[in-house]
Amino acid sequence: MTAVCPHCKGKVTLATVLREKDVKDGAIETLYACPHCKAVLGFTFMG
Ligand SMILES: [Zn+2]
Repeated sequence: MTAVCPHCKGKVTLATVLREKDVKDGAIETLYACPHCKAVLGFTFMG
């Protein structure tokens, strides 16, 4: 994954993206955030 943050235009890669795991209703939610401006870029659920 290589992307450009829509907020700060900083380069975000799989190696630098911030991940934050959270458990909601038994499913693991992973938040992905920009390492430069901390904006949340997306999230995934793993049931
Ligand atoms: Zn950013």
